[in-house]
Amino acid sequence: MTDATVAEAGRDFVRDIIDADRAAGRVGTIVTRFPPEPNGYLHIGHAKSICLNFGVAQEYGGHCALRFDDTNPAKEEQEYIDAIMRDVRWLGYNWGTHLHHASDYFEQLYKWAEHLIERGLAYVDDQTADQIRETRGTLKEAGRDSPFRGRTVDENLDLFKRMRAGEFPNGARTLRAKIDMASGNINLRDPVLYRIIHAEHPRTGKTWSIYPTYDFAHGQSDAIEGVSHSLCTLEFEDHKPLYDWLIEHLPVPSRPRQYEFARLNIGYTVLSKRVLTTLVRDRYVSGWDDPRMPTLAGLRRRGVPPEAIRDFIRRVGVARANSVVDFAMFDFAVREHLNKTAPRRMAVLRPLKVVIENYDGPGEELDAVNHPDDPSQGSRKIPFGREIYIERDDFMEIPPKKFFRLSPGTEVRLRYAYFVTCREVVKDAAGEIVELRCTYDPATRGGNAPDGRKVKATIHWVSATKSLPAEIRLYNQLFTRPDPGAGGDVFADINPNSLEILADARIEPALAQANDEQAIQFERQGYFCRDPDSAPGKPVFNRTVGLRDSYAKA
Ligand code: ATP
Ligand code: MG
Repeated sequence: MTDATVAEAGRDFVRDIIDADRAAGRVGTIVTRFPPEPNGYLHIGHAKSICLNFGVAQEYGGHCALRFDDTNPAKEEQEYIDAIMRDVRWLGYNWGTHLHHASDYFEQLYKWAEHLIERGLAYVDDQTADQIRETRGTLKEAGRDSPFRGRTVDENLDLFKRMRAGEFPNGARTLRAKIDMASGNINLRDPVLYRIIHAEHPRTGKTWSIYPTYDFAHGQSDAIEGVSHSLCTLEFEDHKPLYDWLIEHLPVPSRPRQYEFARLNIGYTVLSKRVLTTLVRDRYVSGWDDPRMPTLAGLRRRGVPPEAIRDFIRRVGVARANSVVDFAMFDFAVREHLNKTAPRRMAVLRPLKVVIENYDGPGEELDAVNHPDDPSQGSRKIPFGREIYIERDDFMEIPPKKFFRLSPGTEVRLRYAYFVTCREVVKDAAGEIVELRCTYDPATRGGNAPDGRKVKATIHWVSATKSLPAEIRLYNQLFTRPDPGAGGDVFADINPNSLEILADARIEPALAQANDEQAIQFERQGYFCRDPDSAPGKPVFNRTVGLRDSYAKA
């Protein structure tokens, strides 16, 4: 990394800690890790952790591992493992040879558990999960010792071996660290290190009947991998004494240290895997990659480029104070990036037919630039003819004062084409406007009048005969309140109007070549991206984001 990229990454308390550690000679290579549990898809909150962990490693010439925290086979699936790898790569990061799984360490972790038992620092408890919870105490009250806390080392070793051998049913016993049931920190009140789970593990199959808890697996995995800075979110702050206790009492090969930063929270957005899983499972959305989902897969499908996500995360920064980021900040980053890169095209979302009465002949092709600020994107031809479509809301029969677009008698510019004047409004029996009759001025070809006369509006359009039909999907917030769930039931806050389908849109012919990755600006409408649901002759486009921040006004 160059100095410039380091500067661009911004300063924060994590980088300050690393600088201080380096200055004091406390660390060698900077090693970090991103440790997802493969029980769901990655979301924009994970992107914060990914950008921080991989970013820091890059900047300091170290490395960042991708480590699957695959310690709960009841909830984890290969589909999630694959999706996580795809999404981290898509976001622009590479773990190189440093792909790990907590399950790679199951044998070592088991030995370390025995090590604790042998030193009288762990015991097998026959209480149920409920009993353990009930005797844990509260913030004000100490916990109560388990009746099994006094078991001998030999008895514990024997039972623990038999737990491993699969002799007991799910939940019958646990292995607990023997620390202090009266500790002010509840995490130190004999935390569970192993539980019995009879389930097929995606990697270790049926080899194991017991699985380490997050607390037991995490720090020791860090130590095995030589992680120098174990960066996690604030909810693990209270686990840190346990993290340190385990590192201290085990013969681990290195001494990582944990640092906590604030989770990313975004208004109107839920970043809880439990809720996201339910949204998918109960079909509130079409899948993990539904463009309304805050998942990386959803954002990708929606047309959000990875650069915009990285830029957004950089702007949010890394701090220790929890906060909620306005989603307008995210839209801003997306818009800013797409404005620079997205080619321009014309599409009419809600078409109104216009017949240009004085235009005869077979039609013609007009030049349109592909990007106003980037001549290297060149230009294209767009077909024009006697019949075109314009946007329904670009016309008003009785225009209010500040409405400068098309209305009876007014003249407007058709982008890249001609000046037209509305002469007549055609309605159906129900009084609905079905067509406009206009005339055009042939001298204004390209959009300028030789006599220098001006028009107050330029509107977009497509040829009625040469444009293609398309379905357009407009997305609104998935939740109706900035703090979904604060009223008690997060599913009651789901926005029933989060998806609006425009089935009769028309797009210019050049859009037939659009691919699924490249977002495109539909002039005056926003940024759009072709959806994989597209079928031959029936493209589907997702609106990535509008051109302006329409929510701010609302
Ligand atoms: P859960 O623990 O509910 O399954 P999780 O979101 O913590 O969900 P993990 O797979 O454990 O999921 O997360 C992997 C890493 O991403 C963790 O280090 C976690 O701290 C971090 N992370 C998760 N959500 C956020 C968030 N909203 N902002 C920042 N980092 C996050
Ligand atoms: Mg977690």
